[in-house]
Amino acid sequence: MDTEVRETENVVIVGSGPAGYTAALYTSRADLDPLVIEGFAWGGLLQQTTDVENYPGYPEGVMGPQMMQDLRDQAARFGTRFITDDATKIDLADEAGGLHTVTVGGKEIKARAVILAMGAEPKKLGVPGEDELAARGVSYCATCDAAFFRDHETIVVGGGDTAMEDATFLAKFAGKVSIVHRRDEFRASAIMLDRAKAMDNIDLVTPYVVQSFEPGENGSLGKAVLENTEDGSTKELPVTGAFVAIGHKPNSHLVADQLPVDDEGYLLVEGRSTKTKLPGVFAAGDLTDRIYRQAVTAAGTGCMAALDAEAFLRDTPIDPEAHWTPDPSRVEEAGQAVADSAAVAAEPTAR
Ligand code: NDP
Repeated sequence: MDTEVRETENVVIVGSGPAGYTAALYTSRADLDPLVIEGFAWGGLLQQTTDVENYPGYPEGVMGPQMMQDLRDQAARFGTRFITDDATKIDLADEAGGLHTVTVGGKEIKARAVILAMGAEPKKLGVPGEDELAARGVSYCATCDAAFFRDHETIVVGGGDTAMEDATFLAKFAGKVSIVHRRDEFRASAIMLDRAKAMDNIDLVTPYVVQSFEPGENGSLGKAVLENTEDGSTKELPVTGAFVAIGHKPNSHLVADQLPVDDEGYLLVEGRSTKTKLPGVFAAGDLTDRIYRQAVTAAGTGCMAALDAEAFLRDTPIDPEAHWTPDPSRVEEAGQAVADSAAVAAEPTAR
């Protein structure tokens, strides 16, 4: 590990989607000198996306990987340090002022505050062709990709609210949307189901599961092979777009036994903040969000987590009994920073 790691970090950010990098941007600009454990596959889900056209500030759109590089570079510009490896263990202190420990590559990193931003992953069907045709017709985000399927024949897989919402949104662009669901009954709320049913170009195809996705002549998705869950018969649907909407799985396994999570494993935060139950532990992005899951909302909560962490560090005095000794020059610097920020607060300025 080449990155310099301090004996005690102010803030360690775990995760590197829009939430993690935005938290890094804000905490680095606040002189907190953050360390980001960005993961081996840094950049989160947007690394697997092509065009992103719904992130404000990019009028021409931007490729997902480019956007993540931009967010990372912006955080790096203010001194953020990165470890491009996965956290394997997180031990959270439960008393105010206690140090949290994040383990990476066998090394234990101590931190006064931790921002958890490990994201969530869409669940996959696990059928042949799904991985090969991802971003070539198979998508997990209708909000992101529906506009690329204008007049196409498409399917949405799933029977919950996300599937209904995706289908209704997609139907504004696509020529046809077939909702493929494994049961005749739908888990989705009645209102969402009725809204989907009311669209002329939406069909319900039940009780079917996808058996495989197959490429067309151009190498992109050409058809979905469906299997009837009652009689085992199969049929083929010629489609060029398939949106898998069978739920998400938050990446909360490293902390789920230390912090409250909901029934699906999403971390619970206090009200409209990013505070978790434990002092100095904040959570942001899709890890806490089962509803919106957008890059821009993740970035927004990353900013909130940084501000919450900054306030926590300001208001939580360093415990002289703790098993580390503060560097006196940093304490002096911190005092100066507080004085500076008080002066800045007196004069409104751009953040
Ligand atoms: P859900 O878990 O509610 O639904 C997942 C759907 O996918 C179910 O119909 C399930 O089938 C199906 N499914 C799961 N695994 C498979 C599989 N391997 N093969 C085929 N089908 C499968 O997830 P959602 O993402 O739809 O919703 C998550 C939460 O977010 C819910 O609480 C929902 O209400 C909420 N939400 C709210 C919205 C809103 O209010 N605007 C919008 C979107 C989501 P089965 O039913 O047979 O189990």
